[in-house]
Amino acid sequence: MAHADILAGPVSEALYRRALEAITGGVNSPSRGMEALGGGAPPFIERAEGAYLYDVDGRAYIDYVQAFGALILGHARPEMLRALDEASRRGLLFGACHPGEVQLAERLRQLFPVCEKVRFTASGTEAVMTAVRLARAATGRRVLVKFEGSYHGHFDAVLVGAGSGASTLGLDESAGIPEGIKADVVTLPYNDAPAAERWLEAHGRDAACVLVEPIVGNFGLVEPVPGFLERVARAARAVGALVIFDEVITAFRFRPGPVYVELGVEPDIVTFGKILGGGLPIGGYGARRHIMELVAPAGPVYQDGTWAGHPLSVACALATLDLIGQDAGLYRRLDDLGRALAAGVRDGAARRGVPLVVHQRCGAVSLFFTSEPDVRDFSGVRRTDARAFARFVRAMLRQGILLPPSPYEVWFLSAAHTEREVERTIRAVDAALEAVL
Ligand code: PLP
Repeated sequence: MAHADILAGPVSEALYRRALEAITGGVNSPSRGMEALGGGAPPFIERAEGAYLYDVDGRAYIDYVQAFGALILGHARPEMLRALDEASRRGLLFGACHPGEVQLAERLRQLFPVCEKVRFTASGTEAVMTAVRLARAATGRRVLVKFEGSYHGHFDAVLVGAGSGASTLGLDESAGIPEGIKADVVTLPYNDAPAAERWLEAHGRDAACVLVEPIVGNFGLVEPVPGFLERVARAARAVGALVIFDEVITAFRFRPGPVYVELGVEPDIVTFGKILGGGLPIGGYGARRHIMELVAPAGPVYQDGTWAGHPLSVACALATLDLIGQDAGLYRRLDDLGRALAAGVRDGAARRGVPLVVHQRCGAVSLFFTSEPDVRDFSGVRRTDARAFARFVRAMLRQGILLPPSPYEVWFLSAAHTEREVERTIRAVDAALEAVL
């Protein structure tokens, strides 16, 4: 696709030219690049506050990326900055045990019903990587079963048949993954319970675990069809495989804890990260005692980390839990705003005759440019109109609305978004839909 017009201001453009020389691809995470929009410089951000990002060219954006779902309280919330400031005065990194990590673990045990014990890591990738290793050790089996289009981080096994960021760049999987690792990964269609049951019945005795996002946040927002998670979990357990719910995106996004509580299906192991850190890097996993006690030094499964349980991340996580816990109306407000946004987008599309499917749950919204009645799996998302998506997102950016630059990423509202931002966004959507036609 041709890079039709220049979006970023001159200071961002100049920084991007320097970045292309000094940083491979100009970005430190491919999801931040503009390749899916036809290329060009992304806006370089100078500061962030509430629902807004401000770039080096003095432009303000209503931010629906929210750090790819890592933020729910908005940017630079004063209480978070205070918590970080107070923690940093006690020292940045101890390389030793500290009280905050115990408090945080105790609080997570109360919020995540299967977590009799937890472990913290520095990222979601590390959390999922260890959860898979743990499942393999617990079962003595090799095969990891996962679902098309889902993203679980960037270690080898989960980049076999990768979704999200890799698919945005047209990569079905990363180069550099040894054949031996590929041989132990099976990728099945999401929302197709019979396919999962058939595979597990036929081959499940080799399966260590089934890894699944209970609600997908990585090929747009796609909810499980009724019975999908229950049937997959039942079929997995029938053959002795463990169920891992990857809640790195979903935990604290829809309710003050993991979403599986709302969905009524329990995993054997759960992973979390993103929102918990309140803007600082964190990840973690938890399970019942007999599984967690396989992790070193209690048991033989090794997981380590210089940054694991980082005092600043832990302080921000405790502050995040406090703020979420004190705001009884938070998820209701996010849902009201999410509904209003989704309704405004649907109305605009209907008025202009643009074929569009809009998914929304609480403060998460995603758009699919398709004339199919709905989108339930990755192949459905792949059939959406990528050119319409690119034109739409570019037109939104020109109006000061920052959306994720990939058709596989979700728009996220935060506690800092209000009716004012949503109304402005709906007006911008109306104009942007014209650009799609
Ligand atoms: N799992 C899921 C569901 C994710 O969405 C992500 C990141 O987007 C990860 C794991 C990896 O987390 P991190 O980027 O913290 O390594």
